[in-house]
Amino acid sequence: MRVAITNIGTIVSGDWRAPFAEGDSIVCAEGRIVSVGTASAKDVEFCDVVIDADRTTAIPGLIDSHVHITFGDFTPRQNTVGYLESYLHGGVTTAISASEVHVPGRPRDPEGVKALALAAYKCFEHYRPGGMRVHAGSVILEPGLNQADFAELKRQGVWLAKAGFGDFKSAFEYAPLIHAARAHGLITTVHTGGSSIPGSGAITGDHLLAMRPHVSFHVNGGPTAMPDRDFERIIRESDMALQICTAGNLRTALLCARLARDLNAFDRLIIATDTPTGSGVMPLGMLYTMAHLASLADIRPEHAVAAATGSNARVYGLDCGFIAAGKAADIVLIDAPDGGTQDSALAAIRNGDIAAVGAVVSAGEPRFVGRSRNTPGTTRRVRVASCKLPRTF
Ligand SMILES: [Zn+2]
Repeated sequence: MRVAITNIGTIVSGDWRAPFAEGDSIVCAEGRIVSVGTASAKDVEFCDVVIDADRTTAIPGLIDSHVHITFGDFTPRQNTVGYLESYLHGGVTTAISASEVHVPGRPRDPEGVKALALAAYKCFEHYRPGGMRVHAGSVILEPGLNQADFAELKRQGVWLAKAGFGDFKSAFEYAPLIHAARAHGLITTVHTGGSSIPGSGAITGDHLLAMRPHVSFHVNGGPTAMPDRDFERIIRESDMALQICTAGNLRTALLCARLARDLNAFDRLIIATDTPTGSGVMPLGMLYTMAHLASLADIRPEHAVAAATGSNARVYGLDCGFIAAGKAADIVLIDAPDGGTQDSALAAIRNGDIAAVGAVVSAGEPRFVGRSRNTPGTTRRVRVASCKLPRTF
């Protein structure tokens, strides 16, 4: 499918060092972005769908790097079906599993946790709920896993590992497993803060610095935060990514975002939701946290967009998260909400408003245009300008 988005007001690139792209059009073909800039009449003529953005703002599809998927579009934590599709309506085109720890009766032995991760990975390899890409299968680190297990998992495709729910007496005991998983090419992630569900324990700065994972999950608490003094230590003494989650502690989210900016570590600041969880299902969680950082911590809104898109992509090695030729065609049109006092999406985010989602293109296919079921309405009229398909969106 070939899709063009024209008449865009602002294009936010997803790269916080160069946050804007020039032009007013994006052309996509076969799931990839072909060009960003000013499309010619000929570029547009050969498209199956042309979307008139009506001067709204284009951002990369949001990447939620902390979602507790299980199987299918269902969460047993809140007994809710269809939540991933709802997240897509909140602009999330990619979800990354934070481990399948919510599967009822989940296994705890090495063979069991390996089988669970592999089954989840394979179930979502081709299944895209609502059009969303789900990276599933994060092996839960438990005693007994060894080098050969990580080698086998990686060979089968599993590339994520999670520490925090294993049957260990002390979090320091995760360190050898984290190092082994890293050595075999897995992205390693660690629960941070106080315990979240029965079976998890407190993990603070000393533990993180002993483990040295790729990502400190919900660095602002999941939901209880580690001591304030530990934030500067892990920023200065490690290179781990700092994942701020909607379901965590708002005060320490702001503290961490300011420190990351001021200590030249903004590359490592990434946004996620950590849902579904005790805090619930939050389809607009990414947009909330972006607005919190921009309105309360003076993070520029385009930088908040980057933390929710390109920075996540860089940390996890994904080919999405940026509006640039060659990247996955995951694009969201956002605007100031109808009735708000701001006149653009970025001004609305800076004001603390939740931007309205006007359209989502995921993997090069329009999933909806002009009528997100979850976000506020927009005053502008994002619409399908022309369509050669048998249906409109
Ligand atoms: Zn979590």
